[in-house]
Amino acid sequence: MYKIDIDKVKIFEVCPRDGLQNIKEFIKTDQKIRLVNMLTDAGCEAIEVTSFVHPKWVPQLADAAEVLSSITMNPNIVYNALIPNIKGLERAIASGLKEVVTIMSASEAHNKKNLNMSIADSLAQMKEINDVARVHGIRVRSYIATSFGCPMQGKIAPEYVAEIAAELERIGSYEISLGDTTGMSEPVLSYKVVKAVKRTLSKSRLAVHFHRSGGIEFANILASLQAGVDVIDSAVGGLGGCPYAPGAKGNIATEVLVEMLDRMGIETGIDLAKIQKAAEYAKSLDPYASCVEGGSDE
Ligand code: MG
Repeated sequence: MYKIDIDKVKIFEVCPRDGLQNIKEFIKTDQKIRLVNMLTDAGCEAIEVTSFVHPKWVPQLADAAEVLSSITMNPNIVYNALIPNIKGLERAIASGLKEVVTIMSASEAHNKKNLNMSIADSLAQMKEINDVARVHGIRVRSYIATSFGCPMQGKIAPEYVAEIAAELERIGSYEISLGDTTGMSEPVLSYKVVKAVKRTLSKSRLAVHFHRSGGIEFANILASLQAGVDVIDSAVGGLGGCPYAPGAKGNIATEVLVEMLDRMGIETGIDLAKIQKAAEYAKSLDPYASCVEGGSDE
C-alpha cells in the first residue's frame, strides 16, 4: 500500500524575510509587523521574521530591530532572523532572539558570488558564529543554497551536499535546510539529495527549501516527504521572486502547502483559513505578486 511515514510536518515560514527582501518599494514597518502577527495567529511553528544583513545590501529589512521588538510573540513559536556574520549575530542577541539562520552554498561559484568567500571560509565563519551563539543559548539553523544544482556551476553531487551538511551538524547547527535556489530540482534528484543528506545526519533536523517552477516544486515536496523530510520552508503568497534577477523565483506558497498536507492527513498546526488570509495580505504588499504568481513566473 502506498503511504508516507510522516504524520506531522514543521513548516518554516519565510515570507517576512525571504519573501519581502527583494521588493524594491519599502514596505512600512507596521505592515511587516501586521504580517508577522497574522502568521503567529495562524499557528505557524517557526517564522523567519527579518534579517540582520547590512541595510546597504538589503534596504527593505533595515527595520529589523524595530519589527522584532514590536511583534506580538507567542512563546510557543520560534522567531528568528538571518545573520550574515558575527556582527549580525550581535544584533540578533541584542534583539533577544533565541534562534538565528546562517547561509552558505554547495556551489563554490555561487558561494563566491553571493558571499564573496570560499566554501571553506564560509564554514570557518559559521563555526565561529555557532560557537558564540551556543554561549548565548541561541540555536542556529543553516541553509545550504544550490543543494540541487547551481546556475553557474551546474550539477552538484548529492554526496558533496551531504558532506557539507555533516560539517554543519558537527559545528552545531540544529537544523539544516537544503535550498533549491533557482528552482532547478526535479523529484528524482530531490529524493536522492535528501536521502544522501539524511544518511549522514545523526542529530540535526533536515528541511527543504524549494522555489516555484511551474508545479514541479510540489512534486519535489512529495519526493522529499517520501525520503523522510519533515520540515518544509515556504512563504505565504509564494512571495520571494526577484524581478531584477532572472531565475530567482518565488518560494513555495504556504497556503497551498498547508492545503495539500491537510488533504494528506499530515498535521501542520496551521489554520488554513487564517493562513489564506495572511497570504492575501502578503500579496497585497508585493507590487510584483501579479506577475510571479500562479505559474506565470516562467
Ligand atoms: Mg527562498
